[in-house]
Amino acid sequence: MPSYRGSCHCGAVAFEIKTDFSEFTKCDCSLCRKKNAVMAKVHEDQFELLEGEDRLGLYQWNTRTAKHYFCKSCGIYTFHRKRIDPAFFGVNVYCLDDADLTGVPIVEVDGKSMFVVGPDGR
Ligand SMILES: [Zn+2]
Repeated sequence: MPSYRGSCHCGAVAFEIKTDFSEFTKCDCSLCRKKNAVMAKVHEDQFELLEGEDRLGLYQWNTRTAKHYFCKSCGIYTFHRKRIDPAFFGVNVYCLDDADLTGVPIVEVDGKSMFVVGPDGR
């Protein structure tokens, strides 16, 4: 499987994923909408953080299962560990530096109807 390098805007955070780009996902939950995120799903075995572990900020909400990472210097969302299966990462495809993203189908995920905890869940 081909590998692709990704990074945040300032370059502090860098990572590499292996993927065949079969599909991307877009989710309509309250967080993904605001991030305007388009994501590639990869297993943790296909993900390697190369640089910037100490620069990663962590945002958690709702059930606090998913771990949403971002660069503390430039604020860019880079990747997150998924709530449905934390062994998988959702990766911000626009952080991939030299990947041709044209023609990859984008599947819309119904994140809005996922179970939400508490009044501040959504
Ligand atoms: Zn950065």
